[in-house]
Amino acid sequence: MAKETQFVEQIADINADFPQWYTDVVLKTKLVDYGPVKGTMVIRPYGYAIWENIQKELDTRFKKRGVENAYFPLLIPMSFFTKEAEHVEGFAPEVAVVTHAGGEDLAEPLAIRPTSETIIGTMCSKWVQSYRDLPLKVNQWCNVMRWEKTTRPFLRTSEFLWQEGHTVHSNQAEAEEETLGMLETYKEFAENCLAIPVLTGRKTEKEKFAGAVATYTMEAMMRDGKSLQAGTSHYLGQNFATAFDIKYLGNEGVLNTAYTTSWGVSTRLIGAIIMTHGDERGLVLPPVVAPIQCVIVPIASRKPGVVEACEALKQELEAGGVRVTLDNSDNSPGWKFNEWEMKGVPVRIELGPRDIEAGKMICARRDTLEKTEMPLTNVVEGVKALLASVQKDMLEAARKRCDARITYADDIQGILAGVDGGNFVKAGWCGCRDCEDKIKEETGATARVYAEGEVKETCAVCGKKSEHVIIYARAY
Ligand code: ZN
Repeated sequence: MAKETQFVEQIADINADFPQWYTDVVLKTKLVDYGPVKGTMVIRPYGYAIWENIQKELDTRFKKRGVENAYFPLLIPMSFFTKEAEHVEGFAPEVAVVTHAGGEDLAEPLAIRPTSETIIGTMCSKWVQSYRDLPLKVNQWCNVMRWEKTTRPFLRTSEFLWQEGHTVHSNQAEAEEETLGMLETYKEFAENCLAIPVLTGRKTEKEKFAGAVATYTMEAMMRDGKSLQAGTSHYLGQNFATAFDIKYLGNEGVLNTAYTTSWGVSTRLIGAIIMTHGDERGLVLPPVVAPIQCVIVPIASRKPGVVEACEALKQELEAGGVRVTLDNSDNSPGWKFNEWEMKGVPVRIELGPRDIEAGKMICARRDTLEKTEMPLTNVVEGVKALLASVQKDMLEAARKRCDARITYADDIQGILAGVDGGNFVKAGWCGCRDCEDKIKEETGATARVYAEGEVKETCAVCGKKSEHVIIYARAY
């Protein structure tokens, strides 16, 4: 009995100490480990498999939008950064620079990419000559580095994995459409693949990407009521095209400056999955990206025929395209239940001699912990249908939790009380930077995203006429 509760006891109480719960879960389920250099993480196979599934789903969507994959160098001449004033100012504090290589000092220091607008802009100025070369849409799957002194696996590390898409267009309308179209793609992906409901919209000037004209974001509410910026899409206008000389000859023979966009999501999404769905038992993974969708646990495995039946079931599910594993280890079934629940596997199948005799199996879903009986015929169909309903119900449950915790406030005290209670708070804003700063100072909350289309009479800080409604929250 002591053995069976071993794993549950090792994870901190999710309600009492959420940060410790998070750390326990990511380490004990073997998603990550800490790297030897402060600020770095090692993504272990179980974590990397989630990333691979995220990549697969997103990559298909990008290609449908006419985006091609490419790869650009990790090292970027420092001089490239100085070409776009806001960009260099925004990134300077966190850029790691190589000054020494091959046994000598370098003539020009080289930045390890924190993002690639500068080098991709430089290359695009060469590749874009005429209107026939547009639109140009490239994406790269790569690592980036932004110096960090603390490590929070998946949330804040100096090196992380991401994708960055970059597009070049002949006109403003098309570039803006691309920016918003990609935001929609991200939202659809987050909701349908990760079962994470997101709030999308524009960021304030203060919170936008350094060098962008406008930044659009998707924000997700974590279990503790904090917000996680889960992806961004930037309309860069002509800022980078001007700085990097991306010009094209129009069909009327005039040289025009192009318009660009960039957009990205990162391994942070894995943190978002953990903190949106996790519970007191550990991870709860959405079936679409779960490395293992279904685990088979034999009951009374020494009885004749049990292991063989489990093996046959595994092969049938595998052939049907289900990511399945059979836990044939010598641990007790109870111990295995705890282990696989902690690892968040969406469906567990229990199969013992009596089930086999009755021609059925027991299916336990991780999200609701409900158990149902299923016939041992048409198992692929049955398990796939169950996985689909887990996926759908996880999104609905997360949406309900999120919707219930969006509140309104008319003043700073209201915002403070709201975020202290683990809510997102909507409040009016006059549009001035001082008021935005004051909310951060007094409540620790930041302007996450504009609540488009909503109206409030007055600014929660200064009481002047409100120009916008903002969603405030504390954030990761
Ligand atoms: Zn104000």
